[in-house]
Amino acid sequence: MILFKKSDELKKYLIKKTAEGISIGFVPTMGALHEGHLFLVRTAKEKSGLVITSIFVNPTQFNDQQDYLHYPKTIDQDILLLEKSACDVLFLPDVQEIYPSGYVANHYALGSLETVLEGKYRPGHFQGVCQVVDRLLAIVMPSTLFLGQKDYQQCMVIERLIDLKQYATKLYVVPTMRENSGLAMSSRNLRLNEQDREKAAAIHAGLTHLKSRLQPGKVQPLCDDVAMSLLQAGFEKVDYISIANAQTLEPVEEWDGNTALVALAAVFLSGVRLIDNIPLT
Ligand code: AMP
Repeated sequence: MILFKKSDELKKYLIKKTAEGISIGFVPTMGALHEGHLFLVRTAKEKSGLVITSIFVNPTQFNDQQDYLHYPKTIDQDILLLEKSACDVLFLPDVQEIYPSGYVANHYALGSLETVLEGKYRPGHFQGVCQVVDRLLAIVMPSTLFLGQKDYQQCMVIERLIDLKQYATKLYVVPTMRENSGLAMSSRNLRLNEQDREKAAAIHAGLTHLKSRLQPGKVQPLCDDVAMSLLQAGFEKVDYISIANAQTLEPVEEWDGNTALVALAAVFLSGVRLIDNIPLT
């Protein structure tokens, strides 16, 4: 695996590979890698000639400074894991490399994606995500970008970004990798103790239960039941348990029995904010 810290050197290398006819698969991450990330890398390797992973904890997407400061960092282990996996190139920029002096932040027209669900509870988050992914796509110019379905709304936001900026990059969404308990793998799980990790499995269990009870008609009571059961189980806060249109993420109050739906959750356990989702139909 080749490590690049400078974007101009990386760019030169990748332009050469592309000219040789090699397709570039790109997996952007914030590090603290787990099996979910490595699943993205393996999928990217299956579908591309060369796989590049980036590790960059992007300051502009954190609306909570404490969350940024406490974001787990395990860079030595990350490098070992990537070396053992199929990753060909690691891009490890510093903040100055991504946001050089004189960088002017764009504003991205994300429409309602920015005001629902994560957009509502994390103001400015998706603008920050677009800033970093825009910079990374301009540097890497991948044939295919690999993102995890775990961050369902983020996938839709990036799809919009690709469209807005007319990038010649395809988006490939990889299913969520879970622990045996059903808990979605996440770097943030590192901040949970063992007992909390067991408890956190209730998120996926709640969404699965909701799916099993879904019927045409009003759906809000199903969400309220799951929220209530999580609070009773010891979660300190529920930002949302929501059923939304799987294509637009608009909230659905009454299901017609046909529209494709997704159930999404954002909850706090021991001060750690966890998100998850499952397609319902
Ligand atoms: P992050 O490091 O959290 O920014 O995540 C980097 C990429 O890995 C994003 O595209 C995430 O959606 C994806 N990812 C995170 N957790 C999982 C998981 N459990 N399964 C599949 N992909 C994931």
